[in-house]
Amino acid sequence: MSDATATSPPVVDLEAGYVMTIAGRPVTTAATLPVVNPATGQPFAHVPNAGPAELDAAVAAAREAFPGWRATPIAERRRRLKAAADILEAHAESLARLFTREQGRPIDGAKGEILQAVYWMRAGADLDLPVEVTEDTPQRRIEVRHEPLGVVCGIVPWNFPITLAVWKITPALLAGNTLVLKPSPFTPLCTLKLGELLVDVFPPGVLNVICGDDALGPLMTTHPGFAKISFTGSTATGRKVMEAASRDLKRLTLELGGNDAAIVMPDVDVDAIAQQLFFGAFFNTAQICVATKRLYVHEDIYDAVRDRLHALAKAVTVGDGAQQGAVLGPIQNAPQHRRVLELIDDARANGLTLLEGGPVPEGGYFVPITLVDNPPDNARVVTEEAFGPVLPLLKFRDIDDVVARANDTEYGLAGAVWSKDVDTALDVAGRLETGTVWINQNLQATPFTPLAGHKQSGFGVENGLPGLLEFTQPKAIYIPKQA
Ligand code: NAD
Repeated sequence: MSDATATSPPVVDLEAGYVMTIAGRPVTTAATLPVVNPATGQPFAHVPNAGPAELDAAVAAAREAFPGWRATPIAERRRRLKAAADILEAHAESLARLFTREQGRPIDGAKGEILQAVYWMRAGADLDLPVEVTEDTPQRRIEVRHEPLGVVCGIVPWNFPITLAVWKITPALLAGNTLVLKPSPFTPLCTLKLGELLVDVFPPGVLNVICGDDALGPLMTTHPGFAKISFTGSTATGRKVMEAASRDLKRLTLELGGNDAAIVMPDVDVDAIAQQLFFGAFFNTAQICVATKRLYVHEDIYDAVRDRLHALAKAVTVGDGAQQGAVLGPIQNAPQHRRVLELIDDARANGLTLLEGGPVPEGGYFVPITLVDNPPDNARVVTEEAFGPVLPLLKFRDIDDVVARANDTEYGLAGAVWSKDVDTALDVAGRLETGTVWINQNLQATPFTPLAGHKQSGFGVENGLPGLLEFTQPKAIYIPKQA
């Protein structure tokens, strides 16, 4: 096993030369895919397009690396993950610039994601695999250990490409598995560079990064070489992944879509919380699984909240994330841009009242911040996950009624309750059918806290010890006290 973690990282050109990393080697393909800058709508880079041959090679490399990596003491696996975090941190500035060009998020938020990933990798690497003793008598001791599963398939979306990749790399590798990681074809660049930067940190084949077009995901989920799929993406794709995994009972973690409700009680200080409400819905141009996607506001303060949010929408600068002053960037890709515009058109065609923010640049995949003033509960903009900057504001009077309306969805990712009365908020929190609830805050997650989608927002858990254990097989060993 190489010990290159002690030496300097490889010199990687972060602006060009995008390659996959398979078995510790750079791999290209004859055919390539363009990567578009969403702020301009123009391609600016090309990446390999992996097919069955490259996938087979990546799975074979990961299989070959597995026995050595599982036999590596967890302390050494942890040390290497922390070395990986150091390298990521050392490249945060240049990766952030690349991130903005491919993902669209303004530079501060882009750097924030790289540094968040660094923190997550370090903190996640500090978790330990417990050995549970379920019986310890004069006759015998029963130990439950947690063993790695084998080769894991990691599939990541385009909204938080690096954080969500690290949420798979860290627990998969810490637990002793090897990994084949696939970014979204819309945001492959930073992930490919991550593979290159970490090439000497892990033994060849432990971390493989491949990318390809829409055909690659289904090839991966049906590949017999994977023991587990860890998937983050939409609920529609999640259903397909689950179906594919059923063929050979692959282990599965699905982190899927959400249509999160935030409930604002009448006792709040509107001015004090307006910014948080706004960015809880619109940070990353509203492309966050756990963003507020339905904002229920008590009728006593509805007009005040609506007007305050509309003022913020008009004031916020939407623009090319590479330009100084841009706070919110474009929608990340053309299909998502079309979906969001179509949802806004549908609201307009149905006579709903739209409150628009300030102007947005021409060209690129920009959409004005849009609030929808008290639409009916069955409007598409309420029932569907927009995943873009269009937010319905909904009036309520009665707590039981608003809880029922918040829960009236196939989704159940997260929710928020805003009130000066934390006990009342806690009561409401207990009644929301979601995996996470925030009181007087939003968009929070920690490496030590499980993130779990209720209902059709997910299957299984990421983060915390439960998230780590999802990358393991429990093994009970019955040990006699006398031979
Ligand atoms: P998506 O489902 O279209 O794609 C996600 C990933 O799956 C991409 O890498 C894509 O190439 C791949 N893929 C596409 N079709 C596939 C198939 N048939 N089999 C296997 N893989 C396939 O999602 P997206 O548009 O990239 O991301 C947005 C969605 O992700 C939103 O619904 C959002 O709520 C969700 N999301 C959830 C979480 C969470 O933690 N719950 C986090 C971020 C995003």
